[in-house]
Amino acid sequence: GSLPGWDDVEALVVEAWQRNRGVDDGVVADYIPILAEADPAAFGLAVVEVDGSTHDAGDVDVAFSIQSISKAFVYALACEELGHEVVLERVGVDNTGLAFNSVMAIELAAGHPRNPMVNAGAIATTALVPGDVDEQWRFIVDGLSRFAGRPLEVDQVVYESEAATNQRNRAIARLLESYGRIAGDPLDAVDVYTRQCALLVTAHDLAVMGATLADGGVNPVTGERVVAPEVCRDTLAVLAATGMYERSGEWLFEIGLPGKSGVAGGIVAISPGKAGIGAYSPRLDPAGNSVRGQRAAAYLSRALGLNLFASA
Ligand code: GLN
Repeated sequence: GSLPGWDDVEALVVEAWQRNRGVDDGVVADYIPILAEADPAAFGLAVVEVDGSTHDAGDVDVAFSIQSISKAFVYALACEELGHEVVLERVGVDNTGLAFNSVMAIELAAGHPRNPMVNAGAIATTALVPGDVDEQWRFIVDGLSRFAGRPLEVDQVVYESEAATNQRNRAIARLLESYGRIAGDPLDAVDVYTRQCALLVTAHDLAVMGATLADGGVNPVTGERVVAPEVCRDTLAVLAATGMYERSGEWLFEIGLPGKSGVAGGIVAISPGKAGIGAYSPRLDPAGNSVRGQRAAAYLSRALGLNLFASA
């Protein structure tokens, strides 16, 4: 079935926000120094339906860096450009069961990144984008902007803060290089990846981006086709298995939807054929997933009957 009427969805989005605004479990990320300056109280929640209807509650216009959520959309764009087989062979689709920046996961898989939602796989995916660094960057910023339905911009301070402290990601890229598993210059790939992570979005933008994946690749606000339906299907399958890192099983069990988190506090969840959910709240659980974002998504999944595994 489809979602309830507009008024009912609106009331449930407001309810999901109100129920969770007082939750203050979790901690703001600080391994990228600038992220520690986020307002821990900020909380925005948005739903965009595949017919373009919009529901916003709280701080939906506060901009934050997209971080790892970019991985989902760059992956979709890479699949669109290169096809299912190439990307499957190069980055895989299986959960590592380890942290998003684990080096051990790479070693355990003889240099294979395992999936595109951990840093190794995301850097390898970005490296697959055709062209030189400028062309790769244009492709990514244009593509993510089409998902969002507006031109996205880099937060230069976030980019510089991460670029100065991302020795671990550079090490991951060098390790992939040592196994012959990254195209081109590994440090160029890390640089483009670091820039894509610093793109600014809002909770509302994330809901539009999620709704585009929910809508078979057509942005329901602009009407523009961004990727093919098969690409959405593949991307959502990967998100279900790996979008919340080592907590992906728990997320799928409780919420029953593909989703992706980022360390700045964003979460996108996708209800195929129905809607995208965007959330922003910077306090994170130990895996790096927004606490309030997860709780709000769980509430909406139950209240709107979105769990993909429910028979009725
Ligand atoms: N840019 C961050 C990093 O590479 C993204 C991590 C995340 O959001 N989980 O560490």
